[in-house]
Amino acid sequence: VLPSDLVCSRDPEHRFSPAQLHTLCPHDAAPLLVRYPPASLRRDALASRPWSMWRYHEMLPVENVTEAITLGEGATPLIPLPRLAAKLRFDGALYAKDEAQNPTASFKSRGMSVAVTAARRLGVRALVAPSAGNAGGALAAYGARAGIPVRVFVPRDTPPTLVEEMRTFGAGVELVDGLIDDAGRSAAAYAAETGAFNVATLREPYRVEGKKTMAYELVERLGEVPGTIVYGTGGGTGVIGMWKAFAELEALGWIGSQRPKLVSVQSEGCAPIVRAFESGAQTATRFENASTAAWGMRVPTALGDRLILAALRASGGTAVAVSEASIRDGMHALRALEGADASEEGGATAAALQHLIAQGAALPPPIVLFNTGSALKYAPRAQDS
Ligand SMILES: [Zn+2]
Repeated sequence: VLPSDLVCSRDPEHRFSPAQLHTLCPHDAAPLLVRYPPASLRRDALASRPWSMWRYHEMLPVENVTEAITLGEGATPLIPLPRLAAKLRFDGALYAKDEAQNPTASFKSRGMSVAVTAARRLGVRALVAPSAGNAGGALAAYGARAGIPVRVFVPRDTPPTLVEEMRTFGAGVELVDGLIDDAGRSAAAYAAETGAFNVATLREPYRVEGKKTMAYELVERLGEVPGTIVYGTGGGTGVIGMWKAFAELEALGWIGSQRPKLVSVQSEGCAPIVRAFESGAQTATRFENASTAAWGMRVPTALGDRLILAALRASGGTAVAVSEASIRDGMHALRALEGADASEEGGATAAALQHLIAQGAALPPPIVLFNTGSALKYAPRAQDS
């Protein structure tokens, strides 16, 4: 259904109409979140619906589901990981949520499907975003689907497969010296200059709405709230979206007040959220000289830092930094032991799980590791890496 309000994530008194385009809260530059009128969505109503994330359209920002700019995103499988569990001596249920099986082979398709749907409804004529790689490919595809031109700004060293993906979906791609926050400044300047709408992470309220459907799917498939969610964190839209979703699912009567422990995973080469979590800070400072083969987690500053940290703490969860070697080992375990198409970001979640089990951390089952994208998107890899 159409939202009732866009609400500031820092001050709920700051409210805006979803009938207009909005970016950050004009009072305090905090991200805006979408709120819906009281809705009813019964689980038994889902049985006859197509397997895509739009099956939860009562809780997505459309008047009618036929408006959705869709390529069949969501409804990704939950793959049991018995061999990995045995290897780690974990005797509860362990799964991978395989987001590689989305259109454009990553979880970014969810957010972009909703953001482009909302942008088209509100009359946007051109779209722009910075990207660490996978978001740009998804935006390019959904822009093409909607008939809206797309420009993407990416770091110059972004793997060529990702740049080619964007270009072949018809997007203009600009290579920028620096990291994604530098690309973000270029994208913002381009938006100001040309009037293109900037759908950078959390600068508009709708990508979170797509990402939140991951939590709806977990509860629908498992029939319960997972005990622990292990999630590679770059911009953090998934953590923020899923945390919002569990509150919505409680309001819908699907679940009670229980929540999963949220575990945020970053590379030791780029760990601003882990550093902030460990120091007790409410926001994160820029991680200088960020470097990791998990390109999607090479995000030195996150606009949603305050929301990510608050969700981790409220969930009783934690934040873990893992080495690049353990990311490779984790990826290898998911692929060679289980056949899951894990990327480095997926591998990082397996590495974090191993680390937490070795530390004796209490991790309630079922545990869900998120594989956020396909390994093929970063190919070819250097043989010695
Ligand atoms: Zn505000």
